[in-house]
Amino acid sequence: RLPIIALIGRPNVGKSTLFNRILGTRAAIVDDVPGVTRDRNYADSTYRNRRFRLVDTGGLDPTASEGMLSLIRQQSQLAIAEADILVLVLDARSGLTPADEEVVQTLRGSDKPVYYVINKIDTPKADPLVADFYRLGQEQLYPLSAEHGIGVAELLDDLFSHM
Ligand code: GDP
Ligand code: MG
Repeated sequence: RLPIIALIGRPNVGKSTLFNRILGTRAAIVDDVPGVTRDRNYADSTYRNRRFRLVDTGGLDPTASEGMLSLIRQQSQLAIAEADILVLVLDARSGLTPADEEVVQTLRGSDKPVYYVINKIDTPKADPLVADFYRLGQEQLYPLSAEHGIGVAELLDDLFSHM
């Protein structure tokens, strides 16, 4: 079966933007995967001739504050269970939040490879925003701009070279 790459992270960090950016126009949206929940988008695509399935976890209501952390935890656990590779998306503009820490905690219980993306790095001068995220103790971070397509190829090259 296809390797499954899941984008996870709290609402508004840019998961869906990255999903669309990675897929470009070549993807086929998959809408009949057995057993999948409605609040997830799946697409099959290729990168450098390698096929993969990309999952955009979403569907969380960003305004629902009550139970938000447990919803995020649930969604992350689902993504971890079904994916082979996880891409954690974090938002450089808001820095690390408690909801991010919740996802990171959930990830630490898994032995699947995780790629840490720092999104919304739209210009070179936004680079200092990345510093905060080294608190996570993660050696390799991937600063990028999903919206502008900067740094996305670097992430994918690394990810696919280890797949
Ligand atoms: P999701 O909830 O994680 O799926 O986040 P979305 O993809 O819906 O994006 C949330 C907001 O962040 C939207 O207003 C996007 O336009 C914005 N956004 C996403 N990626 C970037 C980026 O690279 N730079 C900037 N400046 N904004 C972004
Ligand atoms: Mg989304």
